[in-house]
This record gives sequence, C-alpha cells and structure tokens, in this order.
Amino acid sequence: MARYIGPVCKLCRREGTKLYLKGERCFSEKCSISRRPYPPGQHGQGRIKLSEYGLRLREKQKMRRVYGLLERQFRRYYATATTMSGRTGEEMLSLLESRLDNVVHRMGFAATRAQARQLVRHDHVEVNGKGVNIPSYRVRPGDVISICEASRKIAYVQGALAAAENRQRASWVEVNKDAFTGTFKGLPVRDELNEPMIREQYVVEYYSR
Ligand code: SF4
Repeated sequence: MARYIGPVCKLCRREGTKLYLKGERCFSEKCSISRRPYPPGQHGQGRIKLSEYGLRLREKQKMRRVYGLLERQFRRYYATATTMSGRTGEEMLSLLESRLDNVVHRMGFAATRAQARQLVRHDHVEVNGKGVNIPSYRVRPGDVISICEASRKIAYVQGALAAAENRQRASWVEVNKDAFTGTFKGLPVRDELNEPMIREQYVVEYYSR
C-alpha cells in the first residue's frame, strides 16, 4: 500500500496543530508549529475563513494524517465503520487504533507511526509469536506483540523505548520493555484519544455529505 513520503511538519502547520509525526523533535523547541504557527505556502499568513465544508475537510485530513494513510485506504475505514453497530466516528477510530503499526507505536517500540510501519514491513514484529509484516493488520484484544529477537538491538527501537519511558504510555497497552513485548489489552475508550484533538463527527459528516 502506498504511503506519503513528503515533508511532514508542513502537514501539522496546515492543520494548525501538532500531529506528532517526527518523534522526539515534536517535543522539542525545534517543532515547526512553535516556530512558524501558520499554514505553509505563499499565502499561509493571509486571513483564512473556513467554510462549513472546509472545516470538515480539514478535520478529515487531520485524522487521516495522524494515522499516516492515503485517501483510498482511509475512506475504506469509513466504509467499514458504517457497517458496524456503534457510532460511525468512534468505530472508525477503533479500527484505526487497532492497526498493527499504530499499536507498535503506542507500545513505544517506535517513535512515530511511520517508523512503526517500517518495523512491521521489515519483518521485525511478531503477533502471538508469528511474524506479521502487514501494517494494517488488525490487532485483537489480548494479542501479544513482540519485537523479534534478532531485531532488539536496532538503535531506533531502543531509542524509542527509552523515550517512551519518560512519557505516559497509552492505558490500553501493557508493555514489558525488557522482554520487548506488549499486550493489547483492548480498545481505548473515546475520551482517552485526546491528543491531537479529533472531531470524528466532522469526518463522518464529510464522507456522508
Ligand atoms: Fe513537525 Fe512534530 Fe512539530 Fe508536527 S509536531 S510540526 S511533525 S516537529
């Protein structure tokens, strides 16, 4: 599946909020949002008044960019969510949160979802003891994710784990950092997903217009 490979700080500036796409840099003074808190481009500092449609479009783009997906794949999550029994926006968030690359990132084995995606693609990750190299693989509650024995020395994995120690880890994962394993305890409740702030109802309205 294709992925975005362009500059990522521009995406945060476009959405006007930190999307945390660059790992440690996002928590430092070098973050572009602190340095240039306006949209990129020649007219970035002009006056912008968003229409109702624009508001929903921006929200959709923000959510899509947080999880690092391109439009076609992201829209498919919306389509799947509409067939589920819960509220579409929340179901969509649950589907996105249970992606393997997201779970690897939430556990702290990778500093960003992009890095987690690479870990998965390059065969460094196992789910319940079996190698899985599909970033969109849907992790189920109770699944145990681990970094392959041979991959535990990778510098960026160790760096990410050390950095994650200093931050609050997601409450819906349990990690044993010495064993390089983690358990996906269950899906997060909506209120736990508050950084960055996503108004999933706008995303639903965008697609159902
Ligand atoms: Fe760049 Fe991270 Fe700051 Fe976004 S939050 S602008 S990705 S440094």
